[in-house]
Amino acid sequence: MDTAYNHSDYEAKIYSLWEKSGAFTPRPDKNKAPFTIIMPPPNANDNLHIGHARFVTIEDVLVRYWRMKGSPTLWLPGADHAGIETQFVFEKKLKSEGKSRFDYDRDTLYKMIWDFSTSNKANMENQLKALGASCDWSRNLFTLDPKIVETVYRTFKKLYDDGLVYRGERIVNYCPRCGTAFSQLEVDSVEREDNLYYLDYGALTIATTRPETIFADVAVAVNPKDAKYEKLVGKNAKLPLVGRDIPIIADSLVDKEFGTGALKITPGHDALDFEIGQKHGLSAISVIDSSGKMTNTPQKYVGMKAQDARAAVVADLQAAGKIKRVEPIKHVVGVCYRDKGLIEPMLSKQWFIKIKPLADSALKAVSSGSVKFTAGKFEKIAKHWLKNLRDWNISRQIVWGIRIPAWRCEKCMEWTITAGDIPETCHSCGNAKLTQDADTFDTWFSSGQWPYATLQASQKGDFDYFYPTTVMETGYDILPFWVLRMMMLGIYTTGEVPFKKVLLHGLVRDKEGQKISKSKGNVIDPLEMAEKYGADAVRMSLVWGTLIENDISLSEDNIRGQRNFANKLWNIARFVFSHPKGKRVKRNADDEEVVKQLRKTARRVTALLDKYRLNEAAEALYDFIWHNFADSYLEKTKTRRAEAQKTLEFVLQESLKLLHPFMPFVTEALWQEGKDRFGASNLISASWPK
Ligand SMILES: [Zn+2]
Ligand SMILES: [Zn+2]
Repeated sequence: MDTAYNHSDYEAKIYSLWEKSGAFTPRPDKNKAPFTIIMPPPNANDNLHIGHARFVTIEDVLVRYWRMKGSPTLWLPGADHAGIETQFVFEKKLKSEGKSRFDYDRDTLYKMIWDFSTSNKANMENQLKALGASCDWSRNLFTLDPKIVETVYRTFKKLYDDGLVYRGERIVNYCPRCGTAFSQLEVDSVEREDNLYYLDYGALTIATTRPETIFADVAVAVNPKDAKYEKLVGKNAKLPLVGRDIPIIADSLVDKEFGTGALKITPGHDALDFEIGQKHGLSAISVIDSSGKMTNTPQKYVGMKAQDARAAVVADLQAAGKIKRVEPIKHVVGVCYRDKGLIEPMLSKQWFIKIKPLADSALKAVSSGSVKFTAGKFEKIAKHWLKNLRDWNISRQIVWGIRIPAWRCEKCMEWTITAGDIPETCHSCGNAKLTQDADTFDTWFSSGQWPYATLQASQKGDFDYFYPTTVMETGYDILPFWVLRMMMLGIYTTGEVPFKKVLLHGLVRDKEGQKISKSKGNVIDPLEMAEKYGADAVRMSLVWGTLIENDISLSEDNIRGQRNFANKLWNIARFVFSHPKGKRVKRNADDEEVVKQLRKTARRVTALLDKYRLNEAAEALYDFIWHNFADSYLEKTKTRRAEAQKTLEFVLQESLKLLHPFMPFVTEALWQEGKDRFGASNLISASWPK
C-alpha cells in the first residue's frame, strides 16, 4: 500500500472500475420504489464551472446513498443545446475570427454550431466523470436527439390542437443586438436616469421619455376620472412635427399622477399602450425595426439608430417650440440579460403559449403537496411566479435550436402545424406551396419537457417505472425558467407531476462572499482544483458548512483542508491494514465505546441524508472519523493491537461506507486495498450500514 494517497494514481482507474461493474445502471424491481434524479443537462458550449460541480456533488451523494440502500437508482445524464446561449458563445468565437453569422447560410451555420457543441459535449462528459458522477451513461441524452425532438414536436402540436398555442402580434421584449425576442424572464430590470420631455400636443401636453416614438402615436389617453381632461375626451390632439390629428380617449389604465396625466399611446412600442390600443381598436405602427433603426418616420430620421434619433427629434422639437419643459426622471427600464443593453419593446408576430391553464395546474400541485419544496422559502417564490406568469413567447429568431414545425401557406397565409412531418398541402385551402417558419423554439421549451422526454426516449419501460421522478435538484436561480416550466408541461402532457420533490441549491461564492465571475477574476475552476487536490476534496468543500439551499463561500483553503482529511483517512486505513486480519474476541470498554459512537453516527447520517441535510451529515462523519476513531480510539489500541484488530476493521469498513457518497474515490481505493477483509464486492455496490 502506498504511504500517501495520491489521487491522480487512482481516480481514473476507479471510475472505470465502477463503470465496467455496471453499478451505474439500475435494475428495475417492481417490489421496490425507485430513486430517480434527472440531471439538469449542462450546456454543451463550455467547460463545467464550480456551480456545476456543486450540483454534481449533491446529486451524486444522493444517488450513491440510495443505491447503497438498495433502491433501483437512476441518475440520467444529458446535455442541453442551450439555443441562444450557445449561439451567443459561438458568435463571439466567430467575431474573434473576424467573421459573423451573416457570412453563412442557415444550414452551414447550424452545422458549424453542431460540431462546436458536439466537441464541447464530449469534453463536458469527461469532466462529469472526473468529478465522480455515477450517472447511467447508457441512458445519456442530448436535447437535439431525434427522439427528444419528436416529443417536443408532439407537445407543441397537442398544445396547438388544445387551443393553448396562438400566433399573436404582441409587444415582445426584443434585443436588437441578440437579434431575437426574449420572454419576460430573460429581461432584467434596472433603474436609470433619463429626461422626461413635456411636449405640446395641441389641446394638451403629454410627458414622455421617448420622443423618438411620437411618429408611432395613435392616440392620447387620459384617465376617465381626471376632471381636468373631461371635456377633451372625443376631441383631437395634434402630433408635433408632423401635424397629424390623433383622438383623445379615456382609459382607466392611465395613471393620473404621472407627468400631466395625459399619455401618448404608442401600441407599436410599449406593452401597456398595446393593451390600451387593443381595447380601443387602435392600429399599431412600428417606427423602429429589428436592427434598432428608425423606419416609417419623416425621411430625415429613417435609418438612424433609435438613440441618435431621440437627440435629433428633441432638437427639432426644440426648434419648433414644442418642448414645454424637461425634467430628470429615475425610472426602471428592461435590459437584455445577456448583453445588458436596452430591450426594445417591439411589435412582432410570434408563437405564444397560453400560460394560465398550465400555471393553474402547477399551482394546484404545489398547494396540494404533490410537489414539495424541501425549503419553504422556495415554495413561496414558486407560488408567486405561478400566479404572475404571462403568456410565454416561445419563438426565437436564431438557427441553433429545434425549428418550429409550422408552415405558412403562400396563398391563404394560414398556418399548418404538424408533429414534425412536412405537410404536403395547406390544411385550410389545400394549396401545396408552404414555407416553414424560420424561428426555433425557446430552449426552455425543450428542456421544460426533460423529465418525461428523457424517460420516454431512453429505454422501454423507463417511463412507467421511473416517472414521476423522485427529486429535481438544481440551482435556485433557474426556478422560474426551468423548474416551473417542467411542472407545467409535465402535468399537461403526462397528467402527473414530473417530480415529487424540489431540492434547490444556492450559488457558490468566493471566500469574501462575492459572486464568482470571470470579470471579477475570482473564478475557481473545479477541474483544476480536482487535479490539484483530488475530486473528493472538491466535493466535500462544496457541501461543507452550509445548508444546500444557501449560497456557499468557497476558497482553495477549504479544498486543501478536505484533501488533508482524505490523507487522514488513508493513514487510518494504512494503520489498520498493517496488521493481519483480526479474529473475533470479546470487546473491551474502548471497543464498545467506539462501536456505540459509530452506530450513533450512522443513525444520524442516515436521518440527515433522508432530510437532504448533506452538510450536517458530512460534518458528523468528519468529526467521528477524525476525532472519535483516529484521535481517541486508534491511539488506545496500540497496546492491545491483536485484540482490537477486529473492531478496527469493522469501524473502518463502516466508516468507508458512510463516507462513500461524499468521497467516493478515496473510500473505494481503500476498500479495494482491504477487499479480502471486507468481502468481495466494490464499495459502490456495498450495502448501507443498518
Ligand atoms: Zn441581447
Ligand atoms: Zn392555404
